[in-house]
Amino acid sequence: MAGANGNVLTKIVHLPGSETIDVYRANGGYVALPEALKKSSDDLIDMVKRSGLRGRGGAGFPAGTKWGFVPKGTNKPVYLCVNADESEPGAFKDRLICAKDPHQLIEGTLISCFAIGSSRAYIYIRGEFAAEARILNAAIEEARRAGFIGKNILGSGWDCEVSVYRGAGAYICGEETGLIESIEGKRGQPRLKPPFPAVVGLFGCPTVVNNVETIACVPHIVTRGWEWFAGIGTERNTGPKLFGLSGHVNKPGVYEAPMGTNLRTLIEEFGGGVPGGRPVKAVIPGGASCPVLRGDEIDIPMDFDSLTRAGSLFGTGTPVIMDDTVCMVRAAWITARFFAHESCGQCTPCREGAGWLQRLLWRIETGEGEEKDIDTLLSVTDQIEGNTICALGDAAAWPARGFAKKFRDEFLQHIREKRCPFGGGSHS
Ligand code: SF4
Repeated sequence: MAGANGNVLTKIVHLPGSETIDVYRANGGYVALPEALKKSSDDLIDMVKRSGLRGRGGAGFPAGTKWGFVPKGTNKPVYLCVNADESEPGAFKDRLICAKDPHQLIEGTLISCFAIGSSRAYIYIRGEFAAEARILNAAIEEARRAGFIGKNILGSGWDCEVSVYRGAGAYICGEETGLIESIEGKRGQPRLKPPFPAVVGLFGCPTVVNNVETIACVPHIVTRGWEWFAGIGTERNTGPKLFGLSGHVNKPGVYEAPMGTNLRTLIEEFGGGVPGGRPVKAVIPGGASCPVLRGDEIDIPMDFDSLTRAGSLFGTGTPVIMDDTVCMVRAAWITARFFAHESCGQCTPCREGAGWLQRLLWRIETGEGEEKDIDTLLSVTDQIEGNTICALGDAAAWPARGFAKKFRDEFLQHIREKRCPFGGGSHS
């Protein structure tokens, strides 16, 4: 990622052997680490702040600001947790970095550790990513043999250990405190905040949790400068971004383009348009938790602020495109079913509310719904939103509300015709 020209759309193509240290070094890898080791922690944090890098895991929080929350001069160990859980339906860009650019991630991890005063990093990877975990472990051993991991790295007097921690397939372990609980060997249930992980995180110590793509940006900011990074994209949404296109496009895949690239451009120029020339009916812009956009709303910059203004979310920047053959009630039900299944069960609004959404949507999809079910559904989303420990509650509420509001006519059609007009209505 972070190709030389950040101002054009780029299909991600990896060199043969890109996961090896030799290929990585032959293409400029591990140049940033020695440069970073010559700088102070404050300088590195300042550099990342000035770059404008915002977390690529969905929240869009400024990475440098997050690093700055770690207490200075703490006598406790400081931890970095790299979030490679990537369980959001529709998201698959971090997986590519782990599989094809593991050394970029490791170099970014080391620099980030040095910046926050940490000597211990865990890369928490989704349990299903068994191959990616093997690749990362092999890359860590290569980096260790080359003197980039371990004691007295490059003669700097600084030690750092990096290890891979495999999850067990729970979506909620991608939430930063669920992730921390999981590494501690507990059930992956999110914690109440505050205290925030930067102060009380892993094993009760200051901890930064950053997404894979966020960390992979760091070596480029060090070698090319914060100005380079800040010069790509828009004023508040800087840098290159990996966009994962899936669904009804001719050429699904991961593409790199500046933050703020127009969604229609992504679909038409890189996705090659919709198969058969069918119209775009709807797009989930950044993973299943993001409220759906109608096909007439896709002339929009893909960035955190533009999508929020449009009543949706940028999320992970991984649009799922749906053509006019897709039933919106069914799409909403499938989404609700996922979140109901993944609720950790701690909060009543999430645990019970997500189940209610799933059941209401199924009733409508199978032609057994009534018009008042739509109002009940919207009421349930209102009761979930903002009333839970973590954002999974919101993630369940937002898409259900989005589908019901944006495609109310289609919901009503199911109810009036007492059937799914798309021939759905079964679990298959
Ligand atoms: Fe668990 Fe849902 Fe509450 Fe999050 S919102 S802590 S997933 S019950």
